[in-house]
Amino acid sequence: MSIQTINPTTNLALKTFEEMTEEAVDAAVAQALTAFGDWKRTTYEQRARLLHKVADLMREKKEALATTITLEMGKLISQAEAEIVLSADIFDYYADNGAVFLADKNLSPEHGKAFIRHSPVGVLLGVEPWNFPYYQVARFAAPNIMIGNTVLVKHASIVPQCAITIEELFKEAGAAPGIYTNLLISGSRASVLVRDKRIKGVSLTGSEEAGASVASEAGKNLKKSVLELGGSDAFIILEDADIEKTVEWAVVGRMNNNGQCCVASKRFIAVEAVADEFLERFKNRLSNIVVGDPMDKTTELGPLSSEGAAVQLADQVKRAVDAGAKVLIGGKRVDRPGAFMQPTILTDIKPGNPAYLEELFGPVASFYRVKNEQAAIDLANDSPFGLGGSVFTQDIERGQRVADQIDTGMVFINHPTWTQADLPFGGTKRSGYGRELSELGIDEFVNKKLIRTS
Ligand code: NAP
Repeated sequence: MSIQTINPTTNLALKTFEEMTEEAVDAAVAQALTAFGDWKRTTYEQRARLLHKVADLMREKKEALATTITLEMGKLISQAEAEIVLSADIFDYYADNGAVFLADKNLSPEHGKAFIRHSPVGVLLGVEPWNFPYYQVARFAAPNIMIGNTVLVKHASIVPQCAITIEELFKEAGAAPGIYTNLLISGSRASVLVRDKRIKGVSLTGSEEAGASVASEAGKNLKKSVLELGGSDAFIILEDADIEKTVEWAVVGRMNNNGQCCVASKRFIAVEAVADEFLERFKNRLSNIVVGDPMDKTTELGPLSSEGAAVQLADQVKRAVDAGAKVLIGGKRVDRPGAFMQPTILTDIKPGNPAYLEELFGPVASFYRVKNEQAAIDLANDSPFGLGGSVFTQDIERGQRVADQIDTGMVFINHPTWTQADLPFGGTKRSGYGRELSELGIDEFVNKKLIRTS
């Protein structure tokens, strides 16, 4: 697969990059290992200084960095700028809190004295997706560099300029060579790299296929892996929901990032009493979404990340319709150049329909009408995925009760699944395992060493 910037707004190729040779990758791994030898001996203050500097540079260069995101994967420019700020916040968060999270933890054993010391484990490999080119990297790099690990990042092949720029930011921030290294290589080569004895663990955010490939290599080689995979979040609307606000959040939940979030609201499940009202209003809002150039600040829906992604989504809609689903609005490619797909609502999706089980990664909402709260919970849980989900109700205790019964890693009440530096992020079932962000996110690739004295 070639490593190329293709602007999805026009589908024109802008720049092609040479993959790194085997020798270059080998040298990069060697350099990351050498860097680890020094980095693990630095203080938390020194590590925090580097992370703060990276955050400062991101904020300083926000407009330029955001423009490259939009150019490479089509995100609305205002959302690209927000992603840069969020990523900088993540770097600052681990710089500010890492030392506290990693402080020695005293134990109270029956005999003797003991404590847990947190030590770095070594060189790590991160395999990252294109949908949030900075944020995904920040989730992996910031906590691990704070621990004292060094990181190699294999970024998605469609965002090479973002990938290279992140490495340059580290260099400009004063990182010694090998602390953060970008690897311009294909996905399959990243899986093979997991076997390298110098690499101690791997974290992948992406599809189930890529996750399975990396995790099986990690398993065979007895290395730890963290997987953040796909999702098909339920968005449950109970009869006591504030429908006007709920519809606004439904639009955000489905359309954010042009519909390409792992935690996008994908399955809208409304109880009978409010189903018609919700659907009518949701339909009206989506029908009037402004589709266009993501650089134009008035645009509400831009292209998908690539022509391939648009072709795949259109095919998923076709297969859903062939299997009996109905298209309430949209359902087709937009009649203009670029990787655009119409805002779409599918209804009448029955178990067995491909849309019932598959993740729809774009502006396509699946709508379900159910009898009551229990039926909503049952339907929400009838999914191979277990990433996030949301419940809309004005009764918060009821919302928490429902949340408790939803089999996912995250549930939000009266909000689509969301993210911030101090909240853990991750899933269950086929959405993966392990957590990123918050205190939990700094806990994955660390040696919790017991030290006991008599
Ligand atoms: P993808 O194809 O799996 O790509 C993700 C990364 O994995 C890319 O760097 C890709 O490299 C690499 N890759 C592909 N095949 C590989 C293999 N066999 N071995 C090792 N690495 C491999 O994912 P995508 O379809 O572009 O991204 C969307 C998916 O990611 C969706 O399912 C979405 O839900 C999920 N996602 C999950 C989260 C989360 O936190 N749970 C967040 C964002 C996205 P190339 O680009 O070179 O192929």
